[in-house]
Amino acid sequence: MEDNYPIIVCDNLRKSYGSLEVLKGVTGRLSKGDVVSVIGPSGCGKSTFLRCLNRLETINGGRLEVLGVDISSPTLNQKVLRQLRSKVSMVFQHFNLFPHLTVLENLMLAPQKVLKSPQSQCREQALFYLEKVGLAEKAHFYPEQLSGGQKQRVAIARSLCMKPEVILFDEPTSALDPELVGEVLTVMRNLAQEGMTMVVVTHEMQFAREVSNLVLFFNQGIIEEQGDPQQVFTNPQSDRLKAFLSRIN
Ligand code: ADP
Ligand code: MG
Repeated sequence: MEDNYPIIVCDNLRKSYGSLEVLKGVTGRLSKGDVVSVIGPSGCGKSTFLRCLNRLETINGGRLEVLGVDISSPTLNQKVLRQLRSKVSMVFQHFNLFPHLTVLENLMLAPQKVLKSPQSQCREQALFYLEKVGLAEKAHFYPEQLSGGQKQRVAIARSLCMKPEVILFDEPTSALDPELVGEVLTVMRNLAQEGMTMVVVTHEMQFAREVSNLVLFFNQGIIEEQGDPQQVFTNPQSDRLKAFLSRIN
């Protein structure tokens, strides 16, 4: 796929839980190779937005196109949905590894079940990506035998095994002890440099500044302000963004 190929096109996206309107018209576009940081106060809809992108949530209004598929339709075909989810991977705050499976088994599971790839290929690939996140020696460990930072690197390797077109990260370092944050951010920084398309909900402003090419500031269910990191962090326009940045710095 060439650069500028639209990975996500979002037009006036709306999402409610009952009477609570969480996304009130989100509009934006994400191209191949973009690294987008999503920042904003707690409860403003960042996780909901990510969850809409791989259709973990149904969508109440507007249009959302991901990898050329219109996923706003409430009657989206299950097969199309499964294909979409294998291409739009998600990394969660709490890792979501299977505790009863080894690291290697965690990594091989989805490629075997979803992509129906041969076992030997899944294994080879899993070991390749484990090496990439610096955990080759942990292949036969269980998640509980790993630190939080190691678990999150395993979760990232698990995503990579699906050969995704885009990875969605929802506060991937928020559950980690401070001394373990760096190792996970390093893995993410390397992915970004290799051209992986990424959407990262984060409180790590240094990371957002250095690694992303676009920053979205969410506030009360809309993108209140967006721009390149230089613009957003050094020349914020809206009072709300100014207030947000002064609170976290
Ligand atoms: P953020 O990730 O920015 O902190 P969320 O997207 O998690 O915000 O939540 C936005 C709002 O939606 C919050 O008020 C939250 O309580 C509400 N919300 C999130 N998920 C659900 C749900 N499954 N059911 C009802 N309300 C929800
Ligand atoms: Mg959240």
